[in-house]
Amino acid sequence: MIKAPRGTRDLLPGEIEKWHYVEKVARNVSEIYGYQEIRTPIFEHTELFQRGIGDTTDVVQKEMYTFEDRGDRSITLRPEGTAGVVRAYLENHLNNKPQPVKVYYLGPMFRYDRPQAGRMRQFHQLGIEAFGSHDPALDTEVISYTYDFLQRLGLLDLRVLVNSVGCPECRALYSKALKDFMKMFQDALCENCRDRLDRNPLRILDCKEQSCQELLDGAPGIHAYLCKGCREHLQQVLGYLELTAIPFEVAEHLVRGLDYYTQTVFEILPAGNDQDSLAGGGRYSNLVEICGGPAIPGMGVALGLERVLLALESQGVELPLEKRESIYIATAGEDPSGNLHREAVRLLLELRRCDYPAEKDLLGRSLKSQMKQAGRIGASYVIILGTDELERGTVLLRNMKKGEQFEISRERLLEYLKAIVQTREAGMWKASEN
Ligand SMILES: [Zn+2]
Ligand SMILES: [Zn+2]
Repeated sequence: MIKAPRGTRDLLPGEIEKWHYVEKVARNVSEIYGYQEIRTPIFEHTELFQRGIGDTTDVVQKEMYTFEDRGDRSITLRPEGTAGVVRAYLENHLNNKPQPVKVYYLGPMFRYDRPQAGRMRQFHQLGIEAFGSHDPALDTEVISYTYDFLQRLGLLDLRVLVNSVGCPECRALYSKALKDFMKMFQDALCENCRDRLDRNPLRILDCKEQSCQELLDGAPGIHAYLCKGCREHLQQVLGYLELTAIPFEVAEHLVRGLDYYTQTVFEILPAGNDQDSLAGGGRYSNLVEICGGPAIPGMGVALGLERVLLALESQGVELPLEKRESIYIATAGEDPSGNLHREAVRLLLELRRCDYPAEKDLLGRSLKSQMKQAGRIGASYVIILGTDELERGTVLLRNMKKGEQFEISRERLLEYLKAIVQTREAGMWKASEN
């Protein structure tokens, strides 16, 4: 038996409805905030991620699915969404359109990571990116979008962490200060961090090792090193955030795992879980330039949908999943001529063309097991076709919830069903109603 590769999983009927719901809320919130969908390729030239994400990041060094295609090009399955969106923005000259350009994406990402709950090798993200504005109100908008999305899903218990990682100038000063501090405790650092000390000391702030975390408690924060511009930007973002009434914490050691962020960074975590953030994002003032374009600022966020679904489960949130009611067509009695069967096929088609979800037996079941099957698929009505009824030009219509049935003429059947639908909310048959 061939199994799915490690770190991947199938999303089956029964679970996929939750994904559809989450995606629907995502599209809705995106529209409300003025973001339009963008779909970029699943794979890109490896160089895009090396440049865009940064050569020293764990993502690029250890986690990318990179391969040579048959034309000897180095190709990488996208490990995140931003770099591809930036490339698309430039390649399609969206920078010549009125700014800001605001887009969202939904789709799978790929990282060669150690699989565990909420950490898959193929995982799914919702993300937004906004290009072309320096306004701190945009930073707040992106934070607010993320918070709003999670709240609308029913995740009420959230921690919002906000920080600034400065610009390249002030960050260099901080980086040096952090390095000087960490040098004193070099021996206590994990192997990874000793390596990071020279290459990219800020990465140490991200280290999950207990020993490194403890050292960080005493480490200098970035705020004292921020230049005037970066300090003012942060103050404005925080000021706007206060207006939104979103509860937030300023986390001076918060950096994100990707090199491209400048100034604002933020994370949203489920309360009581410091490890697995649901969302992370920030401002990137140089990424468009790094990817070969003009100096255009951007701001974005990405949310891990597997983690969002896990958080919904652990916080006991019941999603209001809508299930369309369906109609089951059963045939009763002997059918040597095949007339009942033909009538069932015809009726099935009629119902479906009128937008009623409908099914009929395809396994030659007895009436009793047809009724059982109707119950299994949750049909709210069963249309029973029998020889006598066929002759009279009628059918039996059985309301499964009430357990009642009556005879109705074939001509009036569709009218009757239509009337039922019209009495229900917005044409949608809700399983919760009668
Ligand atoms: Zn600065
Ligand atoms: Zn470490």
